[in-house]
Parts: sequence; structure tokens; C-alpha cells
Amino acid sequence: MENTEFGFETQAIRTQLNRSQYLEHSVPLYLTSSFVFEDAEDMRASFTEEKVRNIYSRFSNPNTTEFVEKICQMEGADDGCAFATGMAAVYSTFAALLNAGDHIVSVGSVFGSTHTLFTKYFPKWNITTSYFDINKPETIESYIQPNTKILFAESPTNPAVDIIDLELLGKIAKKHNLILIIDNCFATPYLQNPIKFGADLVVHSATKLIDGQGRVLGGVVVGNKQLVREIYLFSRNTGPAMSPFNAWVLSKSLETLAIRVEKHCENALKVAQFLETHPGVKQVKYPFLKSHPQYEVAKKQMKLGGNIVAFEIEGGIEKGRQFLDKIKFCSLSANLGDTRTIVTHPASTTHSKLSLEERLAVSITDGLVRVSVGLETIEDVIKDLRQALD
Ligand SMILES: *Cc1c(COP(=O)(O)O)cnc(C)c1O
Repeated sequence: MENTEFGFETQAIRTQLNRSQYLEHSVPLYLTSSFVFEDAEDMRASFTEEKVRNIYSRFSNPNTTEFVEKICQMEGADDGCAFATGMAAVYSTFAALLNAGDHIVSVGSVFGSTHTLFTKYFPKWNITTSYFDINKPETIESYIQPNTKILFAESPTNPAVDIIDLELLGKIAKKHNLILIIDNCFATPYLQNPIKFGADLVVHSATKLIDGQGRVLGGVVVGNKQLVREIYLFSRNTGPAMSPFNAWVLSKSLETLAIRVEKHCENALKVAQFLETHPGVKQVKYPFLKSHPQYEVAKKQMKLGGNIVAFEIEGGIEKGRQFLDKIKFCSLSANLGDTRTIVTHPASTTHSKLSLEERLAVSITDGLVRVSVGLETIEDVIKDLRQALD
């Protein structure tokens, strides 16, 4: 069902595999590692790709195909490929498209493991990265070199919830003939579609809001057909495929993505508004608060503000740790985008290995707390945050 006359929710719910002979209503789980051939000719034609069909679940599987098809529709993409995790999607995308000697221009505040790829592993293959400051977009072009191939960004960023103008990135990528890749994990395809602003590829960790219930890991990349083809071939031969079980879970999750994300955003805005009134809080960052430095850009490119709120507690690292210890029912966990509200203190945990200077360069101050706002009764969440702050 590739009909664009249908709305987002209808497509998310009604896109599905052809029914089997049993005429099931809900899509079955195709938990099989391989598929059978009619005869030698069928097998030959399948391997040369004269026939498009499932051969082996490292290459493709009906459940992953359905999941990818939905994400393509949601993002307005031609084609896509699913992976075991978000990092498998990020790594495979770069590894498939880059050659030794190529250069990446990336926003400085990227997901931790993506940062490790850029700084620890890619240099082994003489692939280098230059970082630009998300709050100085006018400097981006100065980092572009003759060997730059990819422009990469996340928006909103983790954990500081900074925003970059996707339309601007699209123009820069086009002018310099770069492949623009956006990690759209924090926004989800419901809130933001980077392809509309000129992105060639969009990557997601499906582990976060796409699953939304903290159950399975997954990743996906969608976008330009030729680029996806390169990534698919890399994946097919190196093996980071998504499991059919996870694809089945995630495709079901997409049916409720719109309604879940709407509620996450409504709750997050309430939390952000509460935090702005609390005397123990120095600064609150949420894309749809007027006080956010890139409020206008956020309004232009996002439907709602997302579910992550960042705020600065007076009193630095110690106060940040004390705040976590006082939290009663919100979870202390590394995940985000779950039905359960999760609170983290990056300076003493995920980003503790960085120097103060390195942390400040990516907007992680000592007292910064990140809240992934969940779907509990929001008054209960606010009560928990309030008593911990008090
Ligand atoms: C979590 C995350 C990833 C990695 O996804 P996994 O599924 O954990 O491998 C990549 N980018 C962003 C922005 C993330 O939040």
C-alpha cells in the first residue's frame, strides 16, 4: 500500500505483508533463517537477482521488509535497510559509502558510540572527521575539504537537545556535493522528515521511540535508492541484519508511533514548563519552549518538541548526583524514548571520561540533567522531579 492519499497513521497501521493462505488479520512472524526454491532455475535466477524474493534472512525477510516499507513511507524515502541496532545502521552506512582517505564533517555533539567510531575506529582506515559547533552553523563550510564526502548531524542532539537548521545543511550539502546523513532518532519520523530538507539518508535507532517500550534493539537507514543499495550490499555480506522477531515487534510499534509520540511531547512540554518555574533549576532546554535558542528553527522543522528535556541544576556535579539519588520512581537507565520516564546525569556517567572543556564544547555542563519523559500520569512524574529538586 504505497498510496500517499492516506494519512500517516493509516499507512502505519494498514501497510502490511500480503496475507498467507490462513487469512490472518495481524501479520505473522516469519521466524525462518532461509527460504526454499522451486527448482534449479528458480534458485539461479534468485541469486542473480533476476527474481526479487527472499533467499536468506541475512539478506531479507518478510518481517524486516514490512518494517522498512513503513519507515520509507513515513520518511518519504525511496528505499531502506534494517539493522540489528542503531549503531549497526550508523556503522554500516559510513563503512559502505566511505573509502580510505575520505573525510567527514559532523556536528560535535553526536551520540557517544558514533563519536567513538569517528575518533577511534575510522582513523584506522585513514578516514578523518572534523567537528563543527552546533551553535555556530556559519562555520560549517570552513571545515569542508577536497576529500570531504559526508556531512552528518543529529537534531535534536543528545543529551543537550540542541537544534540545527536542516534546510541549511541541505543547501550546504548540495553546494559542495556531499552526502547529507541525518540521525533522526530523537525526533522520530513522526516529528521530522529530514529528506524534505535535502538529506540523502536518514538513520534511526529503532530501539528508542520507535519501539517505545524498552523491549528490542533495532536500527534502520532510508533514503536515496543508489546509496541504500550500496549499504544493503555491505550489510548482506557483513551480517548486521535485524532479526525477524525484532522487525515484527517494531512494525507493530509503528502502528502506535503517532499517538505515543503526541503524548510523549505533551508530557515533555509540561515537565519543561514546570522546571522553568523551579528555583533550583538554572536553565531548561526544550525545543518548543520559547527560551530555546533555536526555537524558531525547531518550529520550522519539527511537528512537536520531542520527549527529551535537558536542564541545569544549580551546584554542579555533586548536586546532579544528589538529584539522581533523590529520585523515587523515575528510572535511572541508559535507554531513552521508553514509556517509563528516565533520568540521567551525563557529566558523572555517559560523558564522565571527557574533560570539562570537551564536555562544554558539546553543551554538557556539570549540572546538566536529561529527562526522557515517558507516558506515566504526568503529575506523578512532576511530583517526583519536584521532591528530588526540593
Ligand atoms: C541510541 C542511539 C543510537 C544507537 O542506537 P542503538 O540501537 O543503541 O545501537 C544512535 N544515535 C542516537 C541519537 C541514539 O540515541
